[in-house]
Amino acid sequence: MIKKNIKVIGSGPTGSLLALSLALDKCHVTLIEPLSDSELLKKDKGYAITQCTRKIFEELGLWDNIQKSSFGFDSLSIIDDVLSQSVLVRNNDLKSLNNDQTDIGWVVEHKLLMELLINKINNNEFINKLNFDTTNDGDFDFILASDGRESSTRKKWQNKYFKSLYNQKCISFKAFLNGSPPKRAYEIFKSQGPLALLPLSNNIYQVIWFSSESDTKSKLQMTQKKLLEKLKNELPDKIIPIKIIGNISSFSLAKAFALPNLKNFKNILVGESAHSFHPVGGQGLNSCIRDVYELSLMINNYEKLSNIYRKFFSLKYFINRSLDIISLILFTEFLVTFFSNKIFILYPFRYLIFLAMRKVSFIRINIFSVMTDSIRRYNFKKNEFISSKFRKFF
Ligand SMILES: Cc1cc2nc3c(=O)[nH]c(=O)nc-3n(C[C@H](O)[C@H](O)[C@H](O)COP(=O)(O)OP(=O)(O)OC[C@H]3O[C@@H](n4cnc5c(N)ncnc54)[C@H](O)[C@@H]3O)c2cc1C
Repeated sequence: MIKKNIKVIGSGPTGSLLALSLALDKCHVTLIEPLSDSELLKKDKGYAITQCTRKIFEELGLWDNIQKSSFGFDSLSIIDDVLSQSVLVRNNDLKSLNNDQTDIGWVVEHKLLMELLINKINNNEFINKLNFDTTNDGDFDFILASDGRESSTRKKWQNKYFKSLYNQKCISFKAFLNGSPPKRAYEIFKSQGPLALLPLSNNIYQVIWFSSESDTKSKLQMTQKKLLEKLKNELPDKIIPIKIIGNISSFSLAKAFALPNLKNFKNILVGESAHSFHPVGGQGLNSCIRDVYELSLMINNYEKLSNIYRKFFSLKYFINRSLDIISLILFTEFLVTFFSNKIFILYPFRYLIFLAMRKVSFIRINIFSVMTDSIRRYNFKKNEFISSKFRKFF
């Protein structure tokens, strides 16, 4: 089989994994990234890793290392703060396809994940990294753009892009918190917006706190002492915030997706350059990793595709990914509008959902499975590509 020559634009988590995954199939990858390796490590974020993502990392031979750098959690507390309702998801709520797992999810810091990926990339003979794009587009079989939400490549290629900003913003920081059971993550729905606590290690949590723009602005102007007091009032009684570690970053939030490039079907947007949605439920990077997996499989199986699929390659990739992406946009939108609002009439329905999740394990297991196994099911045997039919839902 002729090995392909591929350009990947952008070396964030999506582009880095894409380069490694393609290199694993012995494609020649030219990776373009203007930032230096040390600049790429600088973001202060924590990513939630789902069971589906774990399996993709296993396929790529990265999981052992990533697991060592990540923190596993064995329970997730979902709280409706307004109605004082809660439900606890534990490892016995995992579907049988994950029954060898003791943790229900993991959290990895951006810096540790990127350190690992950069190290692998720098030692890979099939990846050539460039800070400036001095290449000729005509030399490549595919050009894949993973240059993030503000993608300049998307603008250059003139892909149609539909974007709507949320009127919520978010601050994110690491904090030392006392009083929570070890290995427990939290998703707390408040009327201003959700608040997530992702455990990182030894009582250190990534705090991801959503609220209105004006409230976020006032939080950013507070002293750390005042911010900790405010956080204490928002957390379940037993959890006491002790101190903030490192910087506080703030983000705007958007739901967005791009249509494929109809002028050149071998130019493809991947990851956050192609879609974004509200970070509630920690699905962002997980969906980017599924992009990587799908696209790598499709490129690896390119010769096996019929002529029509080859001709409209990016359209086929878009269609294959669309159910997952659209369902995530709708699911996160539902979580935010249904659980984080002051619409009184919805309260009985919210109460019933929590009651059903608490009392009926079938409902709890299947709702959590959509989050962790994803709606998009793979058989996780590389090269056995079952994706053209949308397989069974649960
Ligand atoms: C507040 C918040 C919390 C989040 N929490 C989670 C979570 O818990 N779990 C989760 O899974 N996801 C989470 N996400 C989403 C996650 O951060 C993104 O999905 C992820 O960063 C997307 O990675 P990417 O590589 O596609 O894009 P980026 O990380 O934006 O990387 C893009 C790369 O492209 C490079 N680049 C830019 N322009 C060019 C150019 N012209 N040429 C070449 N390179 C270029 C950039 O330097 C960068 O390195 C969160 C997001 C936010 C905002």
